[in-house]
Amino acid sequence: MARIVMKFGGTSVANLERIHNVARHVKREVDAGHEVAVVVSAMSGKTNELVDWVQTMPKVAGAASPFYDAREYDAIVASGEQVTSGLLAIALQSLGINARSWQGWQIAIKTDNAHGAARIQEIDGSDIIRRMGEGQVAVVAGFQGIGPDNRIATLGRGGSDTSAVAIAAAVKADRCDIYTDVDGVYTTDPRIEPKARRLKKVAFEEMLEMASLGAKVLQVRSVELAMVHKVRTFVRSSFEDPDAPGMGDVLNPPGTLICDEEEIVEQEVVTGIAYAKDEAQISLRRLADRPGVSAAIFGPLSESHINVDMIVQNISEDGSKTDMTFTVPSGDVDKALQVLSDNQEKIGFDVVQSEKGLVKVSVIGIGMRSHAGVAATAFRALADKGINIKAITTSEIKISILIDGPYAELAVRTLHSCYGLDKA
Ligand code: ASP
Ligand code: MG
Repeated sequence: MARIVMKFGGTSVANLERIHNVARHVKREVDAGHEVAVVVSAMSGKTNELVDWVQTMPKVAGAASPFYDAREYDAIVASGEQVTSGLLAIALQSLGINARSWQGWQIAIKTDNAHGAARIQEIDGSDIIRRMGEGQVAVVAGFQGIGPDNRIATLGRGGSDTSAVAIAAAVKADRCDIYTDVDGVYTTDPRIEPKARRLKKVAFEEMLEMASLGAKVLQVRSVELAMVHKVRTFVRSSFEDPDAPGMGDVLNPPGTLICDEEEIVEQEVVTGIAYAKDEAQISLRRLADRPGVSAAIFGPLSESHINVDMIVQNISEDGSKTDMTFTVPSGDVDKALQVLSDNQEKIGFDVVQSEKGLVKVSVIGIGMRSHAGVAATAFRALADKGINIKAITTSEIKISILIDGPYAELAVRTLHSCYGLDKA
C-alpha cells in the first residue's frame, strides 16, 4: 500500500466528461488499496475568465493596486477550484467511493498575506491522514489557502501544483502524481524536436532549471517545494485510459519521476535542452570601471521589478572604461531603458544599445558536475551550424547560450543531438 496525492490540472478537468474520467483514475488507485488524496485545478480557461472579469471592474480611488482590491481578486479567482472539487467529489461518490471536497481554508492551508501571490506557510495534514485511514478521499481545491487576515488567498497562477506538493509533504505521501495533458518530461520540446524522448527520472535540481528555463510542465515554486521536502513528484497524463495495462503499476507507471539524484542510478551527463523565447539584450558602452557601478545599474532595475538574467561584464582594457551586457524579458526593455536613462549620470555610461527577439537555449544535467568538455561540445556544434553566440552563462549543472531568435529551433535540435539525446 502506498500513500498518493493525485493532482489534476485544468485540461484534465476541463468538462464533465473529463471529470468522470479523472474519477476513474482515482478509483483505480483506491481499488488497489492505496491511501489517496486529490488536488484539483479549475476547469481550463476558467481562471483566465475570472481574472478578466476582475480586471474590467472599475478602479477604486486610492487603492494600493492600480486595478483592484487584491482580497476581492482572491475571493473571485479562487472560485474555479471550488467548483471542480465539488464536481469531482460527486463523480467519485457515483463510483461508490467515499469522497468529500475541501476548500483551502477548511484544511487549513495557511498562507502569508500576499494576496494574489501568497506562499504556503503551514498545513496540518493530520485530518487528511485520519480520513485516508478511514477510506475517505479528500478532494482539495488547489491554488488557494487562508491568510492571517482570515481571508482566501491564492498562490499565483499555476499554483495548484504547489498546493499538491505541499499537501503531499504534509501527509508524508510516497508520491505526488501530477496529471496533466502531456505524458511526462521530455529531453526537449517535442514540438521542436520530434526525436525528443520522455525521461524516466529527472533530479529535482535539473527539473528546477528546466522549469525556470521554459519547460512549462510544472510551476517553478512547486519544484522548489518538492526539492526542499523531497517529495517524489510524478508527471503523467490524465488522457490515457485509466484502466490501460501498467497505469496502476506502483513502481513503474508511465510518466516521469522527479526525485532526489540519489534515486537516479544511471545519470546521463546531459539530461535536457530548454529554451526561453523573447529575451532581450541591453549593453551599456564605455562605463566607468569603478566599485559600485554594478550596484548603480542593477539596483534601480530591481527596484522597478525588472528581472535581469544573464550578466556579462568585459574586462576593462585601460582600467577606466568597460562594457556591461545583460538580458531582460523583451517586454521589459522599454521600461529598463527608461530606468537606465533616468540614472545615466549616476551610473556613468556613454551609450546604451538594445536588441529584442533573442532566445536563450540551455543545456542541463547534473552529470556536468563531474564531466569536462560539455560546454566545448555545445560551442563546436553550434559553430558547425553557423550559429553565432551572443552571451554565455554557466552554473554547476547548466550552460545557457544567448542567440538570435530565428536560430532557436536549429540550436535546440543541434544541441539535442550533439549529446546523443535523440538516441534511446
Ligand atoms: N487555476 C489556477 C490557474 O489557472 C491554478 C492552476 O491551475 O494551477 O492559474
Ligand atoms: Mg498548471
